[in-house]
Amino acid sequence: MRRDILVVEDEGAIRGMLAFNLRRADFDVREAEDAGAARKAIAERLPDLAIIDWMLPDSSGLELTRWIKRTPETRDVAIIMVTARSQEEDKISGLSSGADDYVTKPFSSRELLARINAVLRRSQSSREDPITRGRLTLNPVSHRVHTDKGAVALGPTEFRLLRLFMERPERVFSRSQLLDRVWGPAVFVEDRTVDVHIRRLRKALEAHEVDRYIQTVRGAGYRFSLQ
Ligand code: CA
Repeated sequence: MRRDILVVEDEGAIRGMLAFNLRRADFDVREAEDAGAARKAIAERLPDLAIIDWMLPDSSGLELTRWIKRTPETRDVAIIMVTARSQEEDKISGLSSGADDYVTKPFSSRELLARINAVLRRSQSSREDPITRGRLTLNPVSHRVHTDKGAVALGPTEFRLLRLFMERPERVFSRSQLLDRVWGPAVFVEDRTVDVHIRRLRKALEAHEVDRYIQTVRGAGYRFSLQ
């Protein structure tokens, strides 16, 4: 699966150069020219990684990084901070903001790619850890789901749905967001298909008395909640 990278940089020439090199390295790349545009892009679709310039016109890259890492829905986005300064104290405050790594301008695209791959590998391995929410445990590697009563039998689509929900508890997903993330943006299926699979998922969970975790939010979509 291609990884999605968001480049946040106000200087068009640098942003364009970064985007060009990343696309050539086979990443899906989106660009944002300031923190506001970055927040919008992140809300639309979570990137796997964001490259954030320290100096942005509307708010600092540091603030943006803190916001991403403090927000439960976005904190798994890996972040590489870019700065023109090389002082050690900047490096420390960059990392204490929650950035996963740090590069100093000027840097080679080779150096940046090495950092990106290292950061993505690290965040990938934490993504392979089993997720437990309430009485449910989902293993992303073996694709098995169980409760204290035993294994939950799920089809592949229901598994992907449940995984998405368990990765982002309390977050409401609209039908089109679910279609986009579970079926993929290129697949054409009707919104109603989502409801069919939600029903199947609930049915499978019902046997373990945890179907209440999948909640309908009227007029908005669905969420996973223990409450
Ligand atoms: Ca800048």
